[in-house]
Amino acid sequence: MKMPRNIETYCPYCKKHSEHEVERVKKKKASELKWGQRRFRRATSGYGGFPRPKPEGREKPTKRVALRYRCKKCKKAHQKTCFRAKKFELSE
Ligand SMILES: [Zn+2]
Repeated sequence: MKMPRNIETYCPYCKKHSEHEVERVKKKKASELKWGQRRFRRATSGYGGFPRPKPEGREKPTKRVALRYRCKKCKKAHQKTCFRAKKFELSE
């Protein structure tokens, strides 16, 4: 799907509708100091290997699209529940 780069939507900080800039959020590398990553390092270290089985079956045909909406008035950003799309593009 195609989505405009600027949309008029609700801002939870201004508590009214205003123009927002849409930005795609990419997955960041997990911090080595976070609890889940420390537990993962402990589980994979030593004898025994990977703690979870390899994912079986087909790959999902759609991927989740996470977007960040930045308010042009107060410059604060918020996220909405993400949706799935085969192909995603931000148009002009
Ligand atoms: Zn705002």
